[in-house]
Amino acid sequence: MKRRALRDEPLFFERNPKRRRRQGILLPAFDGPSTPPASVLPAEVLLDDQPLWPDISEMDLVTHFHRLSQLNYAVDEGLYPLGSCTMKYNPRINEAVAGLSAFNAAHPLQPDHQVQGVLQVMWDLEEWLKAITGMAGVTLQPAAGAHGELAGILMIRKALKARGEEREVVLVPDSAHGTNPATAAFAGFRAVEIASGPDGAVDLEALDAAMDETVAAVMLTVPNTLGVFEHRIVEIAELVHSRGGFVYMDGANLNAFVGRALPGLMGADAMHINLHKTFSTPHGGGGPGAGPVTVSEALLPYLPVPRVVKTDDGFSMLWSDENSIGSLRGFSGSFLILLRALVYMRGMGGDGLREMSETGVLFANIIRKRLEGAYHLQYDTPTMHEVVFDDSVQVKHGVHNTDIAKRLLDYGFHPPTMSFPLVVHGALMIEPTESFGPEEIEAFCEAMLAIAKEAEETPELVRAAPHETPVRRVDEVRAARNLKVRFVEED
Ligand SMILES: *Cc1c(COP(=O)(O)O)cnc(C)c1O
Repeated sequence: MKRRALRDEPLFFERNPKRRRRQGILLPAFDGPSTPPASVLPAEVLLDDQPLWPDISEMDLVTHFHRLSQLNYAVDEGLYPLGSCTMKYNPRINEAVAGLSAFNAAHPLQPDHQVQGVLQVMWDLEEWLKAITGMAGVTLQPAAGAHGELAGILMIRKALKARGEEREVVLVPDSAHGTNPATAAFAGFRAVEIASGPDGAVDLEALDAAMDETVAAVMLTVPNTLGVFEHRIVEIAELVHSRGGFVYMDGANLNAFVGRALPGLMGADAMHINLHKTFSTPHGGGGPGAGPVTVSEALLPYLPVPRVVKTDDGFSMLWSDENSIGSLRGFSGSFLILLRALVYMRGMGGDGLREMSETGVLFANIIRKRLEGAYHLQYDTPTMHEVVFDDSVQVKHGVHNTDIAKRLLDYGFHPPTMSFPLVVHGALMIEPTESFGPEEIEAFCEAMLAIAKEAEETPELVRAAPHETPVRRVDEVRAARNLKVRFVEED
């Protein structure tokens, strides 16, 4: 007998069309006083009939979602090399600790003396982040990297205001993540692009020319989104500071140099850290994340509130501070994400974190060496934690980066990030992270090399991929423009 194909998994609405009475749970009959809805709600908002909710048993529910979960690719399945996103393994102990009620049942308005452990977690995390970055202070409040950028730029704006200056420009390199110019604009600045040099790093001459007294800050990603280290970062920071500007460092790629270099010594004034990337937390479905910002002495007075302070009898929350930019959200941040990051750091230890970083960089360089020649490298410079190829060799056979990505699904791998950074046309941005061993890295390289060969010999096969997945190639434009939500009527 043929095995049921996963792709045939029906919707709940299709599953039990005869409406056989089924229930997942049985509630006892309600014996309290009841108020008929008609007496409290106006007639025009009441339905004439019962809604057509499907009747399903508990096993219907469990099997349905279990089967759907198998249609997708996950970090627990194999290499997930999405560049920039840092889709690493999340140690299960993080989840065990985050599941403790002492942490997840605490309320942010509980008096300090009842939640000393919770406050200490935040304090300890701040200490680790200061040690890792060499910076003077931290806010744990921002909910994600982009939110951290906003916090940093608002602090810079306030510091300029305190000097009596109203500068209106923020300089952003052309390789930057889209959130950088968006943040600058959101905070009321004008984002001005600066060009990268032939080595993929910021062109110092271009920066020199653009860096005048209208520039509030330069936003730099280190290492940048090409995986290239800004090797002149100290010179850049000196230049920016000497003309009265601030250096905002996008620390989303901190996982490339934890334990190896200190942004504080590079001249950063503010830097966000994507805890969900560098310090592990499941992400990719849109949240939750955490984007703490570390700051230099110059920005300390402007840190958001609330924040944890240490007193003679333990820890307490500071709810207001004269020069603070205020609050960016309710309470102190995504606490359980902060907790997971601290568990990860303490589990790894300082040496372990450095090794994590070095391993990710090593794997990215193995991939660069294994695939160079088969795929084109626009910036052929040593790579940090990720490497950006492009599809220019394959385009000669009519195969584009999307086709390569779709074909990878047939080989059982999640595709890399595509068409980003924008400075590389047809980009394939690969970030292996340290999660898997060399065998998995090699298997991925072999799949990529096999696809490069196919692109040459049987390009039509690659163009029609994927062939093996539950869902074949979807028409993304049509799906977005012509949204169809199916609802099956009872017959
Ligand atoms: C991921 C990323 C961001 C944005 O971080 P979020 O947590 O997704 O808001 C910003 N810059 C770079 C370089 C990134 O990789």
